[in-house]
Amino acid sequence: MNEKKHYGFTTTILHSDRQKGIEHGSLHKPIHTSVAFGYADARQLASVFQGKEPGFRYGRQGNPTISALEEKVNQMEQGVGTICFATGMGAIGAVVQALLRTGDHVVSSSFLFGNTNSLWQTAMSQGIGVSFVDATDVANVEAAITDNTRVVFVETIANPRTQVADLKRIGELCKARGILYVVDNTMTTPYLFQPKTVHAGLVVNALTKSIGGHGNALGGSLTDTGAYDWTRFPNIYENYKKAAPLQWGLAQIRAKALRDFGSSLAPDAAHHIAVGAETLALRMQRTTTNALALAEMLEKDERVAAVHYPGLKSHAQHGISAELFRAHGSLLSFELKDGLDCFDFLNRLKLAIPASNLGDNRTLIIPVAHTIFYEMGAERRASMGIAESLIRVSVGIEDTDDLLDDFCTALEGC
Ligand SMILES: *Cc1c(COP(=O)(O)O)cnc(C)c1O
Repeated sequence: MNEKKHYGFTTTILHSDRQKGIEHGSLHKPIHTSVAFGYADARQLASVFQGKEPGFRYGRQGNPTISALEEKVNQMEQGVGTICFATGMGAIGAVVQALLRTGDHVVSSSFLFGNTNSLWQTAMSQGIGVSFVDATDVANVEAAITDNTRVVFVETIANPRTQVADLKRIGELCKARGILYVVDNTMTTPYLFQPKTVHAGLVVNALTKSIGGHGNALGGSLTDTGAYDWTRFPNIYENYKKAAPLQWGLAQIRAKALRDFGSSLAPDAAHHIAVGAETLALRMQRTTTNALALAEMLEKDERVAAVHYPGLKSHAQHGISAELFRAHGSLLSFELKDGLDCFDFLNRLKLAIPASNLGDNRTLIIPVAHTIFYEMGAERRASMGIAESLIRVSVGIEDTDDLLDDFCTALEGC
């Protein structure tokens, strides 16, 4: 294939492995299980270790199967480089481990995946300051920035209440101030949105979710978009400044997070995720169509008190979502009217499965305050806009009529 030609999203991902040749003409990149890599010439081994020529050292820092997936995710995000991790949390944790030091400050959206919220609490206990702000308005982010602010962190569409961050304006602010802008793109995926277009420096993807899509492998990634000028980042060690500044961030992350903390993606998982990634665009087309249809149906239902989905005109950030995203995502949440028991409702569903994952092919549903956001307590839930009766739905690829019928029937029992 001619590498210069610009192909569409799915064509690029499907043919990505072949760009560099695959062993024996295999159509899938094989699962390499070897932990170590032998070199016939000992000098070559030394030169790989010294970073003077490309090559693999030890499985914790990567192997050919994982590299092939890193390349795919990188092409999806149009980045300069991507590193994969064992989980999405491994990827976000890497930002803390590799890039932040005691006394640093982070401005984070307060509308966050629950475990990321917990991670920031851990960082605070280690001497990193974190300010939580309503990131749907850039003014709140700006007001929280201090001289020590190193990172601004937001999610594109927040899970579970679907607030959309003021992505573009926060990007412009970070660019002007030289602050690293980290965007968790899990809810949109690079098919719906590329954070590079709003000046994000690092992009997080929980590969476990829609990119893998089949709910059969954990994984995460960090992509450097090339938008951030690492010479403005005070925490890069001299060791990682040997290459061009564009490479500094990832060099330090690969060593200080992946190598030192060992949250390495397993080759089998990389294979599962790479196969899933081939159909990301097709699946997102179906799940986003399903999600909009379900949100519109729920919004009309008298037993439903509120529906949160960026595709609805009633959503506070519908305009931003329509401007920036190809579609409005696969996640919605809603509240039943007072007095209706959400557990009874959930138990009447035949297709939607009570489970905690997102981005599965199957529709998954969960009562938020009683499960994934239980540990943080009622006060913090309220500050995040999470009603005690909130139900989150990760919409799958079921046939639309079947899905709507399932919810309709369960509501009728209310
Ligand atoms: C699931 C998720 C993560 C973490 O991914 P894991 O692979 O489960 O560790 C991070 N951010 C968001 C928005 C998520 O939905």
